[in-house]
Amino acid sequence: MRALLKMKSYKIGFVDKGVLLLVEDSVQKKWDEHRQKYSDTPEACGILMASIDSDTSRIWLEKATVPKKSDNRTRFTFKISGKNHQKELDLEAKNSGGKIRLLGTWHTHPEDDPSPSQADFRGWERQQEANPQFREFCFVIVGLKSTSAYLSVNNRITKMKFISLNTPTEK
Ligand SMILES: [Zn+2]
Repeated sequence: MRALLKMKSYKIGFVDKGVLLLVEDSVQKKWDEHRQKYSDTPEACGILMASIDSDTSRIWLEKATVPKKSDNRTRFTFKISGKNHQKELDLEAKNSGGKIRLLGTWHTHPEDDPSPSQADFRGWERQQEANPQFREFCFVIVGLKSTSAYLSVNNRITKMKFISLNTPTEK
């Protein structure tokens, strides 16, 4: 049966503290599509869903949600509204037999090389507090030119280093 399943492909990633975050092509494409390239492009945000190796050396960022009609969006703000993102997460968790779980969130910034605001840090803290069953989280900010990823292990947040994989990894 395995040959019938579509392989997922990973060409970019981020590293820090011995953890490799691998970004699936479809997730990377969603980020690219939502970059705030035009002056009227509103902020975008979604949740990140991943499976994690048992030794936590690799985090496979397999899926991400994209903005929903019910969300409240402006150029500089974003508020997830309603249960649409959560529903997708619940479905992925169920379909993967619990292997895929919430990893964190992504959102866009209208700046070339994005860095988190105080509100971002507070939001990330709140999300971790709401999910005490998890130890690792990642948060991503998609800027106009670059994408920044942050790793949080036991509530200690560090910026990850972007890497382009020489050989695309499949899983
Ligand atoms: Zn932000």
